Amino acid sequence: MIKIICICTFAILALNSVRSLPMPDYVVPNTPENLERLKNLGPDDLAEELSGQFEGDMVMSPSEIAQLIGGNKNGKTGLIAERFRWPDNIIPYTINEEDFSSAQIHYIHLAAERLMEVTCLKFVPYREGVHTNYIWVTGENSGCWSYVGMRNGRQQLNLTPNNPEVGCFRLYTIVHEFMHALGFYHMQSATERDEYVRIVWENIQAGTQNNFNTYDAQTITQFGIEYDYGSVMHYSRTAFSINGSDTIVALKDLGDSIMGQRVRMSDKDIARINAMYCPLSPRPPPPQSLTEFFYRLNNGMNKLFYNIFSRF
Ligand SMILES: [Zn+2]
Repeated sequence: MIKIICICTFAILALNSVRSLPMPDYVVPNTPENLERLKNLGPDDLAEELSGQFEGDMVMSPSEIAQLIGGNKNGKTGLIAERFRWPDNIIPYTINEEDFSSAQIHYIHLAAERLMEVTCLKFVPYREGVHTNYIWVTGENSGCWSYVGMRNGRQQLNLTPNNPEVGCFRLYTIVHEFMHALGFYHMQSATERDEYVRIVWENIQAGTQNNFNTYDAQTITQFGIEYDYGSVMHYSRTAFSINGSDTIVALKDLGDSIMGQRVRMSDKDIARINAMYCPLSPRPPPPQSLTEFFYRLNNGMNKLFYNIFSRF
């Protein structure tokens, strides 16, 4: 009996020590060139593309990157995997206030409010002892970046301080980083993106081609909503350009706004968040074109066949 009690006590202690381990830090130091450009941003530059992480602003472990690039057939990482989602749609967050001015702190809260206004998400102040997993917003000078989806424990989300609507402090750049923390990747990583955009490989800086990967349909999903040039998660058309010329060219006219915009969440961004977190209400908007109707139909059929045949 004593032996069993000892084993149980040891097991509980071991479990607690695993739980209390700090989250591994996978942030990569930004390059001097990017840091210089971050100080002198042009009007069309996106600070998140210059932040030195995977695809610019996504902090990922080497194994996550390998799985994404290699194509994870088990659907256990990335946007589809439910273990990376915030339970009950509640996202506790806290701001490292000493890094920011009161105007910047206001802007961070405002970004969370913008997300709450159009979804069932609840951003709440982190409370020690109540919340285990939470976002920790910091203001280091390395750019804007976030982990993708909910991790274990405190997960850092960084925004280099700047004036409101400049660099990392564009309101919808903050929304963009929060959307990574919710579990969204970049729009141009969509499985079917080559039907919608042409990547101009010769204009891309050497060594940054990995930023233009697509991910397979078992890792990420579009939730039956068509590709979206106007997504707040889309790169700019000159992302990672070696010469200022376009690296991403639209192939279709979907009647959308500017590629790489950071002035609003598109209707499809809102629909995707609601599809991931709030499937019961509100529902995604009706398809806005015949193309989107057939796209959703095709997507639904693919999902049905996948669910049937993956059982064999
Ligand atoms: Zn991003």
